[in-house]
Amino acid sequence: MRYTSTRNNNLLIDSAAAIEKGISTEGGLFVPTEIPSVDADFLASLKDKSYIERAEAVLSLFLTDYTKEELHACVAGAYTGSFASEDVAPVVKLHDNVHILELWHGPTCAFKDMALQLLPYLLTTAAKKGGSNKEIVILVATSGDTGKAALEGFKDVDGTRILVFFPNDGVSPMQKLQMTTQAGKNVGVSAIYGNFDDAQTGVKKIFTDPALREELAENGFAFSSANSINWGRLAPQIVYYFSAYCDLLKKGEINNGDKINIVVPTGNFGNILAAYYAKKMGLPVNKLLCASNANNVLTDFLTTGTYDRNRPFHTTVSPSMDILISSNLERLLYEMSNHNDKLISEWMKSLNETGAYSVTDEILAEIKSAFAAGCCDDIATKETIGKTYQSYNYLCDTHTAVAVNVYEKYREETGDTAPAVIASTASPFKFSAAVLDAVTQGKEKLDDEFEMVDRLQALTGCKAPVQLASLKGTQPRFTGICTKEDMRKVVFGMLGI
Ligand SMILES: *Cc1c(COP(=O)(O)O)cnc(C)c1O
Repeated sequence: MRYTSTRNNNLLIDSAAAIEKGISTEGGLFVPTEIPSVDADFLASLKDKSYIERAEAVLSLFLTDYTKEELHACVAGAYTGSFASEDVAPVVKLHDNVHILELWHGPTCAFKDMALQLLPYLLTTAAKKGGSNKEIVILVATSGDTGKAALEGFKDVDGTRILVFFPNDGVSPMQKLQMTTQAGKNVGVSAIYGNFDDAQTGVKKIFTDPALREELAENGFAFSSANSINWGRLAPQIVYYFSAYCDLLKKGEINNGDKINIVVPTGNFGNILAAYYAKKMGLPVNKLLCASNANNVLTDFLTTGTYDRNRPFHTTVSPSMDILISSNLERLLYEMSNHNDKLISEWMKSLNETGAYSVTDEILAEIKSAFAAGCCDDIATKETIGKTYQSYNYLCDTHTAVAVNVYEKYREETGDTAPAVIASTASPFKFSAAVLDAVTQGKEKLDDEFEMVDRLQALTGCKAPVQLASLKGTQPRFTGICTKEDMRKVVFGMLGI
């Protein structure tokens, strides 16, 4: 299987090169030139297999230049022992034929672990295959979940360094503690004065500075990226939709061939795009439901065909979905335009210059046949957490609650009662303040993060993941804060140049 760029069809590389490069030089995203297809027998064959075996079967269709042995080593390394559930991504029943796919049993309690536990293996294997002897430097700007998941994924991985910048006032107390207490001999973490955009812009500047790149190369280093546009992050996410379907088959909840609806709380459009690829491969899916918070740029796009980021930015209780530019949408448009790289380049140029673009009527029709979309605000998010807990004894986090809310409205409005799988993207204990507020209907307010965790455990009988609970009382290892102008100095300092 070959990979090309959404903005240049002349480019053809293999998957290892796509993963190593991260993004194409003209700004496009790497995509497979064709989507492999599977049938009912493939699903049946995976029914009784482990998550690792399912992952190998699905990924081998995309990463054809990795040998069977290489892929096995990568997948087994990523998913053995690092997830609290043996199933890795278990499916639990919410009620009737509505199921929750829990993607947060990894080391950082957010779904980003599903891909970021695997990416370091894929990346270092790719570098070896490509003959590079440089040490890989991963630079990350994070608004919370990605930074910690990348740190855990790359910690103590030979031949790599990982440096994370986060906005000092822009992450939750739990997220900050998770990052500043990070263990590992190849890791560095720094806060910056400013917001997420400042951190992101600073990292991009460092990435794209040719002089700096050269200086790093002379010192034996090469930059790479762990952000969600890397194909090595997207491909692992396709697996769990297959795995969820197989779990439902195994439990007798569905018959092979039955169509399911998949609901995804969405920010950068990576997670739901993986579900789209699964559908396109032949996984029996009726609708993909894209759920947004008050930053509902995707709800508008998927219903009108016009993407317009010119709107106020809302800070919400589901911060990992506070985003106005959903980068991975570019890959969907590439598929739906029959790989029209010129058109994609035009639209992305327009997005860059005016903040908006509109797709053709044909593409809008195709979008509407595959997707439904909805959104809800913070009040509805918290109401949903409360109701879901009271009605089904299930405690969900703020991001998952957005998906539950949007799904319930969809089911009510359309009467579509096909079996549903709702992606749950974080542990509720990662967002204790909002969840406690929701469960007690605003009656209980506590200041300390761990008091909130304890109270939530006492109230609900749910157990906080040990990775979060054990942070109580730990002393930060990384206490540095820098200005955005000083970020490159910090990078050089961390690399010892
Ligand atoms: C990143 C994240 C999302 C959004 O996922 P995308 O792939 O960016 O759409 C949703 N929920 C949580 C908890 C996340 O960390």
